[in-house]
Amino acid sequence: MCLCATLPDAVYIDYQPSAFVGSMVQLAVGNWVELCRCSSCGQLWRIDEWDKYQVQVAIKVSAVEGWDSFDFKPIQLKLLVNARGGLTNECCAWANCNHHAVKGVAYCAEHLYDTGARK
Ligand SMILES: [Zn+2]
Ligand SMILES: [Zn+2]
Repeated sequence: MCLCATLPDAVYIDYQPSAFVGSMVQLAVGNWVELCRCSSCGQLWRIDEWDKYQVQVAIKVSAVEGWDSFDFKPIQLKLLVNARGGLTNECCAWANCNHHAVKGVAYCAEHLYDTGARK
């Protein structure tokens, strides 16, 4: 039994039970990411390589083909915004950026992401 079907498209590994990672079989390695398959249900996941300075994010992948060229940034930005509790009505402090700032910070999701924040 696994939880893949009940999980959203993107999750933080930290918040998952150890069985989540334990059930993953590595299929391929990319640039700081791995493609894994759940040994129970076969769901593909793109998982960040472990880095002590960064949280690991796992994102559902629909096909092996093109997994390392697909743009996962929109999903990661959504995860980041949700983790921070949403957006404010303020504008991003970045010059010429008129996106809404993420709660608790002065920047929009994209610029927050660019500073290295993943959570
Ligand atoms: Zn699974
Ligand atoms: Zn911005």
